Amino acid sequence: MKREHAAILDCVRGGDRFLITSHINPDGDSVASQLALRCILKSLGKGAVIVNRDPVPRVYRFLPGAEKILTRRRHSLRPYSALFVLDCGNPSRASGLLDRKPPLPVVNIDHHVTNSLFGDLNWVDVKASSTCEIIYDLARHLGVDLEHDLAANLYAGILTDTGSFRYSSTTPRSMSIAGKLLRHGVDPHDLAERIYENAEYTSLRLLGKVLSRMGRSPNGRVSWVTFTYADLSTLSNMAETEEFVNYARSLNTARIAIGFKEVSPGDVRISFRSKGDINVADLAARYGGGGHRNAAGCTVSGSLRGVVNRIVTAARAFVENPQQAHRNP
Ligand code: 5GP
Ligand code: MN
Repeated sequence: MKREHAAILDCVRGGDRFLITSHINPDGDSVASQLALRCILKSLGKGAVIVNRDPVPRVYRFLPGAEKILTRRRHSLRPYSALFVLDCGNPSRASGLLDRKPPLPVVNIDHHVTNSLFGDLNWVDVKASSTCEIIYDLARHLGVDLEHDLAANLYAGILTDTGSFRYSSTTPRSMSIAGKLLRHGVDPHDLAERIYENAEYTSLRLLGKVLSRMGRSPNGRVSWVTFTYADLSTLSNMAETEEFVNYARSLNTARIAIGFKEVSPGDVRISFRSKGDINVADLAARYGGGGHRNAAGCTVSGSLRGVVNRIVTAARAFVENPQQAHRNP
């Protein structure tokens, strides 16, 4: 085991109250990994408080312990032994708690290739399918029992970050951990139904509208979907659109798919998805973002139409020649 990972185990054993956070606009893995870590700390008799900037997306509110997550931008750091930042590649994406250098040790646990190793202690495993897979390792090393709530959260994080065991991040190890979790009482059908068959009527109607105007490049290698500010305001939460970009990627000719969301007038959130070895984390990094090889994101300022034109042009060049496009941004 790496010395830095052992130091993280010591940090857990030696402390008594911990603060946990993750990235803005949390997804399944960020919510579930925080809840799983809280289960571990509780079972060791430690205090654990989770603070996030944005609320838990509706479909993940059933996860055991989700009601305990506090949604706020500021929180006193003084009473805690350490701050755990999970599933977050970069301090600017953390929940505001890292805006200034915190007066306590920061433990960064993540699996993004673009992670900037911003923690005082870092456990970054880019081969892990999900942060939950690393939290599973942490539980095993700490000798914690895989009780039901811990197992259910770990399974939910692995399930969602592997796209239901379909993405290239799926490894024999993620499958074997998932299998162990099933042996600890996780019901895979129940979890999948709660997460994937739980869309709101308004969001399915919007999906129809957005797909009916989907764009593609002349050779079909780049496809994209756009959400205007008005589209997004019909939804209860932006998280309802998380899966939409995957429909653009499912186009048979697509190599890169892009989701553009006008999150506020003048700001466009971009989700990149790719197939095969096209590394969209490199593409997102050119605009100050990051992520994984086949799923990455960034935020770009400008009008929706202007940003779509600019980014689609860049993606078309990138898909034809990723090395060249990377060398000459
Ligand atoms: P999504 O498109 O689902 O928002 O994000 C896809 C992946 O890229 C996620 O793993 C997410 O953590 C990462 N990502 C999205 N936006 C950003 C960003 O602005 N900066 C960085 N560093 N990573 C991002
Ligand atoms: Mn993740």
